[in-house]
Amino acid sequence: MMYASPQLFAQYPQPGPAKVYAIKAGKLVDPEKGTTETNQIILVRGKKIEAVGANVQIPSDAKIIDLSKSTVLPGLFDAHTHLCMTLKKNRDGDNYYITTLLDPTPYRAIEGVANARDMLASGFTTVRDVGNAGNYADSALREAIERGLVPGPTMLNAGRIIAPYGGQFQLQPEKRDLGTPEYAFADTHDEMIKAIRENIHYGAKVIKIVVDDQKYIYSADDIRFMVQEAHRDGLKLAAHCWTEPGARNAAEAGVDSIEHGERMTNDDLQLAKKNHVVLVGTDFTESAARNAGMPDMHVVFVDRLKRAYQIGVTMAFGTDAFVYVPGETRGTQAAEYVDSWVEAGIPAKDTLRAMTINAARLLGVDGERGEIKSGMAADIVATPENPLDDIQSVRKVFFVMKDGSIFRNE
Ligand SMILES: [Zn+2]
Repeated sequence: MMYASPQLFAQYPQPGPAKVYAIKAGKLVDPEKGTTETNQIILVRGKKIEAVGANVQIPSDAKIIDLSKSTVLPGLFDAHTHLCMTLKKNRDGDNYYITTLLDPTPYRAIEGVANARDMLASGFTTVRDVGNAGNYADSALREAIERGLVPGPTMLNAGRIIAPYGGQFQLQPEKRDLGTPEYAFADTHDEMIKAIRENIHYGAKVIKIVVDDQKYIYSADDIRFMVQEAHRDGLKLAAHCWTEPGARNAAEAGVDSIEHGERMTNDDLQLAKKNHVVLVGTDFTESAARNAGMPDMHVVFVDRLKRAYQIGVTMAFGTDAFVYVPGETRGTQAAEYVDSWVEAGIPAKDTLRAMTINAARLLGVDGERGEIKSGMAADIVATPENPLDDIQSVRKVFFVMKDGSIFRNE
């Protein structure tokens, strides 16, 4: 093994009747309200939470899980991940174009299985996977998780990223096809509609576009056109924006979320707020920025994070972790991103909201996940200390229940 892995359990080995658990929570956090209640009991039956309260009757067939010395909270969300891509620096340098050329889709699907397991082990019970998955490895991974074939978070996946010609790569003219299938190039409105429908046909649950990684970028009209098509088909649209003009166009077009957006001005952030655009800031920590080959960007992200918070833009936690780092997993790397939120001076309660209920709303799974309430999916994690006192506690998740099955308990 490349890292010390916690003892994990298969997620759905559940023959027989639905299991019943009574979780004794010493502290129970409500991220929506930013409050903590003490000595609560969470009754889980099958995949769902049946009751929560101080005086819940514990049925005789319930197995008791004693977390009375710990803090219990809803499972965490990462709204920006790439489970089916891992850049290997010693082979690929800082250029994931090389990664996509050397790792075939079947291998990337297997990487996805490992990354999904590791995200779950770190307490991330729901993720939005925003593309870079070869030829739909992400759809295969999502289906395998949904069927209980492999353990992993609930997953909304983007399939192929839709982008202006070239996508995020610099191609060379004798080998023009090497940018596909990683990206669906769409420059005309006809191509945009086709790319969205192909994605949906092959299992995408969210549409991801790249606005601005070429000299020619999508206009606000282009983006609005794609938002309308995606919404007509019942999907939300996430827009990668690495430049200020790109982010401005996306904010103006009213995308569901701007990804990165680290160059956004205060005016852009105001516009995003006005148009109900969620910011998924992927706020690279110092080490994550260094690992991704852009050490100077950390301060840019933290500065924008601070400004976005002050302006009151709705934010959902997202990481963009995609580099193999010795001694770390995809999950431990993702959890580390709270460092940037601490540096930006954001109160723990707001960071935790971004990691739970805000992300649930962005993904459209609120009412099902993101809160510990009766009727919700039993996605429950525990930490030694209360993350509302110190958000760094989310890096110490030791108990993970996913859809009513215990995945980690140590
Ligand atoms: Zn990304």
